[in-house]
Amino acid sequence: MTTKKWGKDDFWGLGAEWDPQWLLTPAQKKLQAKLIELCRTTLRENAVESDKKLIFPRKNFEALASLGLLGLIVPKKWGGLGESHTCAAMVAETIARYGCASTAMCYTMHLGAVAAAMFRSHDNKYIQSIMKRLDKDVFIGTLSYSDPETGSHFWYPVSSRAEKVAKGWRVTKKASWTTSGGFADWYVIQTTSPDFAGNYADLTCWIVTKDEVKAESATWDGMGLRGNQSGALLVDNVTVGNDRMVGPKGDGAASNDECVDPFFLLCSSACWNGISLGMIDIAKRHTTAKKHVDVGMRVADYPTIQDYAGEAIIDTNACRALDFQMAKAMDDVTNNCDWSIHKDLKALPRAQFLSWMWQVKFAAAKNVAHVSDKMLHACGGTGYKPALGIERYLRDGKAGWVMGPTNEVLRQFVGKAALLGFESLDYWNQAVNERVLNNEVKKLSADAKRKLAKQLLAEADGAKAAAE
Ligand SMILES: Cc1cc2nc3c(=O)[nH]c(=O)nc-3n(C[C@H](O)[C@H](O)[C@H](O)COP(=O)(O)OP(=O)(O)OC[C@H]3O[C@@H](n4cnc5c(N)ncnc54)[C@H](O)[C@@H]3O)c2cc1C
Repeated sequence: MTTKKWGKDDFWGLGAEWDPQWLLTPAQKKLQAKLIELCRTTLRENAVESDKKLIFPRKNFEALASLGLLGLIVPKKWGGLGESHTCAAMVAETIARYGCASTAMCYTMHLGAVAAAMFRSHDNKYIQSIMKRLDKDVFIGTLSYSDPETGSHFWYPVSSRAEKVAKGWRVTKKASWTTSGGFADWYVIQTTSPDFAGNYADLTCWIVTKDEVKAESATWDGMGLRGNQSGALLVDNVTVGNDRMVGPKGDGAASNDECVDPFFLLCSSACWNGISLGMIDIAKRHTTAKKHVDVGMRVADYPTIQDYAGEAIIDTNACRALDFQMAKAMDDVTNNCDWSIHKDLKALPRAQFLSWMWQVKFAAAKNVAHVSDKMLHACGGTGYKPALGIERYLRDGKAGWVMGPTNEVLRQFVGKAALLGFESLDYWNQAVNERVLNNEVKKLSADAKRKLAKQLLAEADGAKAAAE
């Protein structure tokens, strides 16, 4: 077991014996060591400034680009590192733990956008040109999905549309939240498909650039992840060329299941785990240094504090184990994230794991809230002050539960799918719940039933006439 270093010294937090290093290749371990050093020299200090002044962490992205990390999952022939899902999880976790949680979240959204683009890159020269610029030009991407009308149901973009025009497509998108909004250079957005006829499962993805979006970055404020600048965004009737459509028309749902969701859930969970570990590290340093002269003990000598640390490590490593297990599962079915398998448009190997990815995110986001509470308790009043760093991580970690898919939605998805079958989830509100319907109708009086029947017949006739 190699010793974890912090500059010339040994690392002051948990040692490598508490990390699942056996999952990483020698090249990934080297990359991790370089990234920890970059966090020490650059990212960690910038995190304080980002949090205080709501600064987008562009400087940290420049530092990440120096290690080739913006193109982490881009093939080597296009200038990327050609790395795997396991490596993506390790990088997001490492940035959050040793560096800056806001940067880790912006990086997660960047990787999600890269994944959505790489998924349909094989015959799209525009996408290929973006993928080749990522590190050279620090060309930051992001995902803009959430709609103001549907909240955390980010797969339901009611305030969006797209239509065919002579020069390509005219696209409108209203997004209520977009990490890196106004600061990213390119955006993967999702709208209803051109020729939309009322079926919200019919979705299409696009790439738009910084000059084509209107971002309200000045209005961004949040409890934590304050550098992530997740403000509202508008793409206002913008005409884009044919090559801006990502994949075929109507590919949005496949893109969600195969790339956007798996990468977001994998890497955002790694962020929550990184934040949990970052707090355990700080708590170790603090509680082993702070002494109570009256009893001659350090805070870490109290069994209560040891129990806090033990439980936090066990729970966090269970979350990490699940995240890395799913990363490995996705590596196995994609030949280590080989994007060429998607020349076959029907190849959707990651999608089979979606319900497992829901579990990964739920567990990591639930855990970070618990761990942040306990590490604050372990550090006492000193932890309550910003200087120790626990307080910022605690606020950053709170985003885990509320970010879509929220933990309320995820436990519902899992429980409902397990009890009633996956088809019962009805993402796009299309299936009629006969039980509820019959039960409500049963309560109506005869007159009310006649009134309802009349109204329904009129609506059915109107719909028929409109279709003819
Ligand atoms: C820091 C941060 C960064 C973000 N970055 C991005 C980004 O880059 N791109 C992007 O597209 N979005 C992003 N989001 C948006 C995020 O994914 C959600 O869309 C957003 O947090 C929803 O907020 P809301 O107030 O509309 O919540 P609401 O949807 O109004 O939720 C309110 C409550 O209702 C619950 N709820 C909602 N639906 C159900 C249901 N079906 N069953 C049970 N309970 C339900 C929720 O869990 C929650 O408790 C970000 C959010 C945060 C906090």
